[in-house]
Amino acid sequence: MCGIVGYVGEKLAIPMVLECLKSLEYRGYDSAGVAYVDGKKLEVFKRVGKLKILSNFIENKIIPASCAIGHTRWATHGEPSEKNAHPHTDNLSVLALAHNGIIENFSALKKDLNTQGVEFYGETDTEVFAKLLQQNIFNENAIKSENYAMHSTMHNTIKVTKKCIIMAIKKTIMQCTGSYAVVFIFKGIDDVIFFAKNKSPLIIGESKYGKMLASDTPALLGKCEKFHTINDGEFGYISKRSICIYDKDFNKIKPYFMPIKLQLNEVILGEHQHFMQKEIEEGAKSVLDTLDRLDSQKILAKIPEQIFDINSNFYITACGTALHAGRIAKYLIENQLGESVDLDYASEFRYKRPQLNSRSVCLCISQSGETADTLSCLELSKEFGATTLAVVNVRGSRMESIADYIIPTSAGPEIAVASTKAYLAQLGAIYALIAHMAKIRNKSLDFSIDEIKSIVKANENVNYENELKEVVELIKNEESVYFVGRGLDYLLAMEASLKLKEITYIHSEALPAGELKHGSLALISEGCVVFAILTQSDLIEKTLNNVHELNSRGAKVVLFTPFIELKNFVYKLIKLPNVKNLLAPFVALKPLQTLAYLSAISKNLDPDKPRNLAKSVTVE
Ligand code: GLU
Repeated sequence: MCGIVGYVGEKLAIPMVLECLKSLEYRGYDSAGVAYVDGKKLEVFKRVGKLKILSNFIENKIIPASCAIGHTRWATHGEPSEKNAHPHTDNLSVLALAHNGIIENFSALKKDLNTQGVEFYGETDTEVFAKLLQQNIFNENAIKSENYAMHSTMHNTIKVTKKCIIMAIKKTIMQCTGSYAVVFIFKGIDDVIFFAKNKSPLIIGESKYGKMLASDTPALLGKCEKFHTINDGEFGYISKRSICIYDKDFNKIKPYFMPIKLQLNEVILGEHQHFMQKEIEEGAKSVLDTLDRLDSQKILAKIPEQIFDINSNFYITACGTALHAGRIAKYLIENQLGESVDLDYASEFRYKRPQLNSRSVCLCISQSGETADTLSCLELSKEFGATTLAVVNVRGSRMESIADYIIPTSAGPEIAVASTKAYLAQLGAIYALIAHMAKIRNKSLDFSIDEIKSIVKANENVNYENELKEVVELIKNEESVYFVGRGLDYLLAMEASLKLKEITYIHSEALPAGELKHGSLALISEGCVVFAILTQSDLIEKTLNNVHELNSRGAKVVLFTPFIELKNFVYKLIKLPNVKNLLAPFVALKPLQTLAYLSAISKNLDPDKPRNLAKSVTVE
């Protein structure tokens, strides 16, 4: 969450930073800001709302600066407002700082600074960091020399050097707990951007035109050829000519640059209206690419077999959509391998004293590989001696460097906040994992990887937009809808419901169909829209009973099913391809994701940037 960019080089820095921020907007869009330093001038521009508002505001200004930073915010502390927008400045306006993460002890630090007379203009934890840093810089016994940036404080004139800023960063990060990727510029120290990193992602990019700092590689695409990943605890600066990185023990680190492998067409809309639309279409490719990579690189075969010992305790943890992929993994392991699995939300898992030990295997799932809650579970599992497996989409993420074994998905960059193709890719990886575990145990399965490939290929181009038009009209003005299903269908209902509420703001709940009569049926009244999912041939009669219960209370039931003969029992039937029970997710998700997408459009909402949400949730 929160996108950070810094540029120093031959080109005009402000347009460069604004352009790079565009590719990071998925990380937050409450407000945006940029700051530059040019000689004795340090200026900050901030606007509430999406980046476009800030870009329009700056458009006609000619700013010849060659060093600037920028930020697109997802608020954690303090409402989205201009005063809380980044970059933040100190009381003397000598520095401008952008931050991604949470300074967890900000209240205590703020109180301390308050007693020393430091005033605050907003509510963010970031402002506290900026002001503490400025104080540390000025306390850092600034060297009195004509050659350095000179600042007048209330009592004296002090001169600040790069070296004393570095010492002040070192001190500041020792005083702060929590997560941060911070970049900042300092008045009078031209063409230098300072940084520090702990838990939130930060990379350095390099090209012949300059150097950059960014939260993620898409920001550097087309601007830099290579990138270096900054590790936790590291800090330093980039300048036109040099890169200086220190680790937490104050040893100098040599950057290790890797080529940026992303292609430009992976992060642009092309002929599509929205990234979500593009990414729903790319779902099939994501599954196929994931399965091909796992197979061709023999990734699962490289994991020691004893990890999948029948006596291991299997845990699964993740958040949001990734957790729904995890639920399918649990279902399959229990249903196909006959072993029980413990699963929980990552934000709950770590606080419930999980009984982890060296016989435990913990499977963590995350698109970004940076999801803070899931990362903590991974770290916790390792502390208890468990073996950790991580299903991750983004290469070079923190989870990749921490987990014992990585099961990579190949969905490519997912830009829309609501996950679609990455979820499908996670399912591909999970089915491959279960097939691998079955092979080790000599167990036969009710599906094969080849079957998945062939149904995915066969249905790649099916389009549901026309068929769903009437349904979209039906729910457009609804305040609340329900999704029901049994078994695997209930797990699909959970994901469909999450997708719809994320981007349409229609309240939506997923329920096991059989549970309705134990409480939620009380919510069903005349005209209420209920989506029923029925792909499991052995559950037709039972789920149909629940459909009848709903019909009797006046609900309009929209049924997603391959069983066309059920048409007469429901308000509307959306026909799904008929595939084996366990393979239903690979054909049912596309229409359910499309339903959410089209409903958002019909309500004039931006499906790519739902309110209050952001991608890559780097805060707990
Ligand atoms: N805590 C900072 C704020 O609220 C940064 C938020 C983030 O990185 O998501 O402004």
